[in-house]
Amino acid sequence: MWVHWRLLKFGHWRRGNALEVVCLDLEGVLVPEIWIGFAERTGIAELRATTRDIPDYDVLMRQRLRILAEHKLGLKDIQEVIAGMAPMPGAREFIDWARERFQVVILSDTFYEFSQPLMRQLGFPTLFCHRLITDDKGMVVDYKLRQKDPKRQCVKAFHELNYRVLAAGDSYNDTTMLSEADVGVLFRAPANVIAEFPQFASVEEYDDLRREFIKGSPRDLTL
Ligand SMILES: [Mg+2]
Repeated sequence: MWVHWRLLKFGHWRRGNALEVVCLDLEGVLVPEIWIGFAERTGIAELRATTRDIPDYDVLMRQRLRILAEHKLGLKDIQEVIAGMAPMPGAREFIDWARERFQVVILSDTFYEFSQPLMRQLGFPTLFCHRLITDDKGMVVDYKLRQKDPKRQCVKAFHELNYRVLAAGDSYNDTTMLSEADVGVLFRAPANVIAEFPQFASVEEYDDLRREFIKGSPRDLTL
């Protein structure tokens, strides 16, 4: 029955009036890895680890919180670093291009408390991510994930709303989103992720990502 319903919907899409959402990862796709930027500025090498190195996000976050506490670094210190960062060259233009052709939602495992200065530079596209928990001294004491496997859950929800989903990400925490999406593309992924997930197209440049999304859409879109 599920397959039957999806086929019916596909017939609808083929008429060129598909409803489509583009879901984009943030770090590594539109902005640099925030924790790596923070590690470089603070000189704490241990903070360089990302989901590329430790696929289990909870293990990774517990390690980060422990290091922040050891170095007595609060949210204000982290935010000062992030305010000095900028999106990747071409990211803003890519977002603007995508928003003219699709609905665009950024699905990230970052935190609202971190992302504000970078989201401003991207024109504040819609962002679904998580929250940090701080104590009254501004120290980060915990984090609150919105839900388990959040990127995949978003794609499933968009499907429930009769949207097709085209998605792009660069790392392990994107692969369930890419699997669930109608079109999943790896963008500037490291070699180990590309090798482990050969079912996804893999591109390095925004223009190639634009082409993959155009190719993956039943609508008549242009660069
Ligand atoms: Mg990423």
